[in-house]
Amino acid sequence: MNFKLKKQHLLSLLPDFIMLTRGPRNGNALYLSLDDGPHPLHTPRVLDLLAEHGAHATFFLIGRKAEQHPGLVKRIVDEGHALGNHSYNHFLAFHRMPLRQQLLEIDQADRLLAQFDGRRQHLFRPPRGSFSLLLMAHFIRHRRCMAYWSYDSRDYQGGRSEEVAARFRRMPPRPGEVVLMHDDDACAGEVLGQLLPEWRASGRDMRALQADVA
Ligand SMILES: [Zn+2]
Repeated sequence: MNFKLKKQHLLSLLPDFIMLTRGPRNGNALYLSLDDGPHPLHTPRVLDLLAEHGAHATFFLIGRKAEQHPGLVKRIVDEGHALGNHSYNHFLAFHRMPLRQQLLEIDQADRLLAQFDGRRQHLFRPPRGSFSLLLMAHFIRHRRCMAYWSYDSRDYQGGRSEEVAARFRRMPPRPGEVVLMHDDDACAGEVLGQLLPEWRASGRDMRALQADVA
């Protein structure tokens, strides 16, 4: 087991109200999540596909990009998807910043997203999945849960979309799994273009994960 899988496994042992790694396991639901958008080319492609196949997802937006593309954020909300908070700037060393600065990043993104969906808080997913214990303690104290994932598509590793899709077919996500993808690149759209019709045909139900599901 590599380090990433080990970490993912350890986090999955935490209760859902602290660390959300899976959605409700009822039925045949799959919880797609798309990080690092919105992107002017790739996000519309993903939204078109989701609409075409009656699927919903959670978009963990970077606040700075959301501010640059308000029309896309509005479209995400209008089409029934959920907004997630992926910090304002997506600093790569986010987890090493002073706690006060981390909280400012989260709050700035929350306030921006609230203008679109009216929610004061959103599920927060830390940049690169890295978080400090101080931030986790703060979240627990404030009864706020962090959103992780249970199924990593590895669409960010620069592989071809055929390889990513083939891996999905080899190891299909199980009901309730939260699937990590990224819409700041063409790969997620290409993969979803192949897989959404197949998942639909096999009776899978793609849903958005909301803060109140936690
Ligand atoms: Zn990210």
